Amino acid sequence: MQIELINTGSELLLGRVLNTHQQWLGKKLADTGYILSRQVTVPDTADSICDAVQIALGRSDLVITTGGLGPTSDDITRERIAAQFGKPLRKDEKIEEHIAKFFHQRNRPMPKSVLVQAQVPEGSLVFNNYFGTAPGLAMTVPSGRSDIGNNQPWLVMLPGPPRELRPMVEKYLLPFILQKFPLHEEFHCRILRSMGIGESMVEDRLLERLRPLMKQGLDLGFCARTGQVDIRLCGYGPKILDLIAKSELLIRSEIGKYIYGTDDDSIEKTVVDKLIDKGQTITVAESCTGGFLGHHITSIPGASRVFLGGFLTYSNELKEEMLEVRNETLVKHGAVSKAVSIEMAEGARLKTKADHALSVTGIAGPEGGTKDKPVGTVWLGLASIGRKPLAIRKFHPYDRETFKQATVNQALELIRRRLG
Ligand code: ATP
Repeated sequence: MQIELINTGSELLLGRVLNTHQQWLGKKLADTGYILSRQVTVPDTADSICDAVQIALGRSDLVITTGGLGPTSDDITRERIAAQFGKPLRKDEKIEEHIAKFFHQRNRPMPKSVLVQAQVPEGSLVFNNYFGTAPGLAMTVPSGRSDIGNNQPWLVMLPGPPRELRPMVEKYLLPFILQKFPLHEEFHCRILRSMGIGESMVEDRLLERLRPLMKQGLDLGFCARTGQVDIRLCGYGPKILDLIAKSELLIRSEIGKYIYGTDDDSIEKTVVDKLIDKGQTITVAESCTGGFLGHHITSIPGASRVFLGGFLTYSNELKEEMLEVRNETLVKHGAVSKAVSIEMAEGARLKTKADHALSVTGIAGPEGGTKDKPVGTVWLGLASIGRKPLAIRKFHPYDRETFKQATVNQALELIRRRLG
């Protein structure tokens, strides 16, 4: 089956907005058993959109457009596509009611222009938009191809804002695709998420051992992200569940200690869930990550049951004042040192009475590095009730954002390992 994605929006081509739809939608479809055949981004001009749609329909069973369904003058996708296929626009009373309610609930006056979003090309299926006003639309359109007889391809239009598109895809688009284009064989997919081991090492240790299962139909993929590697196991057919289960056993026996979760798990979710299970609490003492570690922990629903709060101690003075790091330790070892990371963690734990405290102190750069402690050096400390504190040194000579992300991941990995 050929599926083509057309992302519309000049801001995407100007680099002002990152095209997250391509990545997110591609992954959702792949996890459901459908692989995008092509993706193209076009400016939001009528000619570009209509051309892209016409070309895509000439080679696809399903064409998905994103963006341009809103009420402003540059939102032209619905109107131009309806005109392109000679489908008159009809007012949909239910959508109009939804739009009016949407404004009423937010206590905002409703500009008349927004009602254009209730105009639906004749014969379209409507995907409700619970987080915005423009519905998604699906219709069959002539492809101009002689090889597919009466099987006209489907054209689906989705709104641009990710907070509107994503729930719509989950609730409407995926069930729609499964219904209109049923998979011929059952499909299953499992992702094992690892941390603390490099991609080449993962491949080195797994590839040869998994090859016999791959010959039987297992599709294996590795995807590296900052400090993490995802191992994707999927495939079609009646044997695939068994092949995935065998692969997972084999992978866990080989690199099990690095696997922190599966599918949509994140390292912070794994940590929060483990703390909830154990009825334990945590605090953080952050320097170079500037609150990013606390942010990650508090992004997880339920964090309030385990996260007591944190200390953001960027200066030496605050490390002394808030965490009781000793001045002589700072003078003797410097702020980025094993001794200071341990005193920070112990100070945070004692002040809050948490079961665990994580600390982070490092040199994010681009300035401030020395020969002994180059830019990218970071110390992570962990103090836990009844246990000897520990600290590890890491090196992330990257831009500040990547430095912070890698550091936070490793701090979370440190506590995950302690939690077992
Ligand atoms: P609106 O009613 O907000 O105008 P729309 O359906 O007309 O919605 P667009 O105007 O094309 O959609 O996009 C609205 C916003 O959604 C963009 O400014 C951008 O921030 C975001 N957006 C659009 N396309 C993408 C994309 N491919 N990836 C990430 N964000 C996107």
